[in-house]
Amino acid sequence: MSALPDLLHFDCPRCNQPVDERLYGPCRECRDALSALGGQGGGEVVTERFEPRMHVVPNQVATKE
Ligand SMILES: [Zn+2]
Repeated sequence: MSALPDLLHFDCPRCNQPVDERLYGPCRECRDALSALGGQGGGEVVTERFEPRMHVVPNQVATKE
């Protein structure tokens, strides 16, 4: 008999390391890393949206003679 709760054996979806956790999800290390990144418990991963800046070239003023 074991007092331990049933653990799931799976590969961490983040680092692909075999882990034993009660719930499927990132392993402890990854949760720590995620929470460190998020700073608020690591609920959602905030993805930065990369928007390249378009440099608008102003119309060239007709050169006067
Ligand atoms: Zn992991």
